Amino acid sequence: MIEVVQGDITSLQVDAIVNAANNSLLGGGGVDGAIHHAAGPELLEACRLLNGCDTGDAKITLGFNLPARYVIHTVGPIWHGGEQGEPALLESCYRRSFDVALEQGDIRSIAVPGISTGVYGYPGDQAVAIAVRVMRIYEPKFERIVACAFSQEDAARYRQVLEKIL
Ligand code: ADP
Repeated sequence: MIEVVQGDITSLQVDAIVNAANNSLLGGGGVDGAIHHAAGPELLEACRLLNGCDTGDAKITLGFNLPARYVIHTVGPIWHGGEQGEPALLESCYRRSFDVALEQGDIRSIAVPGISTGVYGYPGDQAVAIAVRVMRIYEPKFERIVACAFSQEDAARYRQVLEKIL
């Protein structure tokens, strides 16, 4: 099942949430800042041990003070106009995040934010199309995939695309 939830991903009661991090994994603004704030300083300590993360890849830590047991940190591409491999890298973020969750073995529900659609500037409609396409592929492998939209506009976009891509 794929569900659209509008709101703060740090409040969601799921097994894992995905973080839109940067290559250092040492914290940033946006959803990354919110996740580190809610999880507490132990999350930063855990991230230090991971030695960063390549764009398009994903790495897992515990969730510490979050309701979610795990955080999967992925690094989206910075939008440079779409001709520098951005679509393939964004797709890889979603695939790698879901694959890492499945490898963990005890993650049945997972929430994902709009990777790259904040400071990294990926156009929202194109990002949602990629996100939903990958979510549909992984839908049978999870009990619940939550597309977490921060704005009402983003939530409406997910709902529209989900109706089209059955
Ligand atoms: P990126 O650098 O990958 O663009 P951002 O954190 O700037 O990452 O933004 C990614 C998306 O996360 C944006 O759509 C933004 O609106 C959204 N966002 C920001 N804070 C939260 C939050 N607390 N919960 C869910 N989504 C959030």
